[in-house]
Amino acid sequence: MDKIVILTGAGISAESGLGTFRDEGGLWAQHRLEDVATPEGFARDPALVHRFYNARRVQAAGAAPNAAHHALARLEAEYGGDVLVVTQNVDGLHEAAGSRNVLHMHGALSGALCAACDHRWPAPLEMFPHDTCPRCHAQAARPDIVWFGEMSYHMEDIWAHLEEADIFAAIGTSGQVYPAAAFGQHAGRAGAHTIELNLEASANVRDFTEVRQGVASVIVPEWVDGILYR
Ligand SMILES: [Zn+2]
Repeated sequence: MDKIVILTGAGISAESGLGTFRDEGGLWAQHRLEDVATPEGFARDPALVHRFYNARRVQAAGAAPNAAHHALARLEAEYGGDVLVVTQNVDGLHEAAGSRNVLHMHGALSGALCAACDHRWPAPLEMFPHDTCPRCHAQAARPDIVWFGEMSYHMEDIWAHLEEADIFAAIGTSGQVYPAAAFGQHAGRAGAHTIELNLEASANVRDFTEVRQGVASVIVPEWVDGILYR
């Protein structure tokens, strides 16, 4: 069976209204990355970090998947082989569109994590510094988000999937954040056809054998149609 592994980044959710720290204006522009997206920032001011992620969680809960998310769900449902989405995004828009085989390498806004005992549970819409862990009761609840300086999730599985891939696609990623920026080269060396789908050429565009540029809601459905109806 053929296997398609797809990496998605912020670019696929941009048309759903969810910005990133690279966008001007918006939520990220009001905060320094080291204050809201590092373990040190959380240790300094947990209330600020919770407020930031509470706002993002509310924003994500009100966002709808766009045509690119729907196209990937259709690919998973209709393709004869395996389809895996590996996402850097912490929103739940792939799942909202109907994708089921999704790995969140940077965690998810829908999750809470105990910094004391590593217990995980579904995050409420709003979290606060005095929230306690349901297992160990420490006041150490944090968003289950991988911050800068922390290890991405599922990496051992992801490298193995990349080595088995017949097609690897990177969608809406800047190619600047490792380890994800190395996926194209890794999959290509293992024999996959590699394709980049992005608004503009990424930092590591040379790692891909095929490149398509445009907005995700247009070029992703076109790419999926090409696979399903070739
Ligand atoms: Zn705990």
